[in-house]
Amino acid sequence: MLGTLQDSLLDGPARSRALAGPHGIPLRTRFSTSAETGPYPDQPTARCQRPLRPSICQSPAGEGSGCGASPLLPTPTTRSASAESGRAKRSLLERYDHEFAFRVTVAEAAKAGGELVRPLHVSECGWCVWQEYCTQIAGPDDASFAIRTGLPTAQQWRYLYDLGKSTVADLAASGDELPTGWSARDTQPGAMAEEKYRLLVRRARMAQAGVAFEPRGEWPQVPSADVEVDFDIEWDFENLIYLWGLRVRQGQDDTTAVFDPIVSYDPLDTEGAAHLAEEFAARLGRVITDAEAAGKSVTVFHWSYPERSMTSKYPSVDELLEGRSFDLHAWFAGHFLTRDGTSLKAVAPIFGFHWAVDDAGGAESQIKIDLARAGGDEGRAAVQWLAAYNESDVSAQAAIRDGLRRASPAARA
Ligand code: SF4
Repeated sequence: MLGTLQDSLLDGPARSRALAGPHGIPLRTRFSTSAETGPYPDQPTARCQRPLRPSICQSPAGEGSGCGASPLLPTPTTRSASAESGRAKRSLLERYDHEFAFRVTVAEAAKAGGELVRPLHVSECGWCVWQEYCTQIAGPDDASFAIRTGLPTAQQWRYLYDLGKSTVADLAASGDELPTGWSARDTQPGAMAEEKYRLLVRRARMAQAGVAFEPRGEWPQVPSADVEVDFDIEWDFENLIYLWGLRVRQGQDDTTAVFDPIVSYDPLDTEGAAHLAEEFAARLGRVITDAEAAGKSVTVFHWSYPERSMTSKYPSVDELLEGRSFDLHAWFAGHFLTRDGTSLKAVAPIFGFHWAVDDAGGAESQIKIDLARAGGDEGRAAVQWLAAYNESDVSAQAAIRDGLRRASPAARA
């Protein structure tokens, strides 16, 4: 969850401070820990529940230190997958001590020139600054770093590696039968864990064959309309939508596409955001009215749910989207299995599409809107970046539909 980062120093744990990012913009983080350090390949996800031992921590409630170790609070327990059995209940403090003692052991071995552990690819690696390094260390044959999504936990990887399934080829050659003990090592044991294993093996086969996506079953009919609208919103840290990206094309002829967004790069309040929503509804309404008056069908494509969930509070927008919007992500993920995930940034490049800006992503766009509002040279550059980024986001959706049509068995026959 995003939030402003509060931290404190070890020599003054009771004094909290708000950290600022580049250009004075408040820093946001996905992590609550104040004790993230270097690569700990087998224990990459430990959340710091006790940065300081109680005997050192002078803050009665742990204020500012991130310390959740107040003796007055009940001690929650967690499931530890590092137990021999794969599952054991441990208190947060026991877990903290275990994990950090392990990290110290790893660091001491490394300092002495040894290597106690090798990196394993887990979901948290996606946010880790060491990812490039760990990928290199693991090597091109490593099973875990060859797979980008649907990743097991570190303990599950360790378990598979101990069974001799450590390379892409090893994993790809595995049958669908679950190794004994796999399910118990999953946070969701049972049917979910079993499906996760089968998809893991299937993705290993895709990685080995160099296949980026494949249909889950029969190749589906790719959605289309006489008038195709691609739609994508951008919002700021206050969840106010400042950019309503709209790209309209006639049928599947991409040369007819017109990008015509509603946008404000000025500071925005609730009233201003509602005004932008009304402008968007008026513009989309004209597209729909003109098309339907000419007897043409209209579909408004979007990738994933925010374009509906975040805009439904505006009745005029909701009314236009109801029955005409189409969640292309849900449709794609339901019909196709990918090797590298189903984010727009992972899927569109499969079909040769590339963003017009570097560092394309929602988190970067939220930083850019603050810069755009601040003005100056950096602000003007941020405005250009945001416009190009959103145009790429809407164009990517059309590129995916077109790419799927080209890749369909019917087109290749
Ligand atoms: S990239 Fe992954 S394995 Fe490497 S240090 Fe980061 S979290 Fe650990």
